[in-house]
Amino acid sequence: MRKSTIDKIKNILLQQKEELEKETSKKGLDLENHDNSIIADANDRATRDTDMSNDYTVKQIKSMKYLDIIDTLRRIEKNDFGICEDCGCDISEKRLKAYPTSKLCIVCQEELEKDKKNKNMVLNSSKN
Ligand SMILES: [Zn+2]
Repeated sequence: MRKSTIDKIKNILLQQKEELEKETSKKGLDLENHDNSIIADANDRATRDTDMSNDYTVKQIKSMKYLDIIDTLRRIEKNDFGICEDCGCDISEKRLKAYPTSKLCIVCQEELEKDKKNKNMVLNSSKN
């Protein structure tokens, strides 16, 4: 990928990061101490019962997005950006422009989603 393209994406990420930080300081969103179990629990509740979706869940989602951005910026610094974490091939520029924080190429992402669906199917039906 061209350096100019990476720089563009980097600028977008830095902007998003700044926006999230501004919002955070206003609303007191705790980005440093995020707890995975709390996030999982909040997501679980939110999908089970939409009435439970509250400001807290929004905060957690924003916190995850923030960490994704930090992680992606770190990967840009390490020249790991745009490389699929799973198969090691290049993630397409189109995909990265649409989803700068993508860690997987489209093929691996689709596999992952298929896998998730399969797991759900296994969970929902009796084994054998
Ligand atoms: Zn891949």
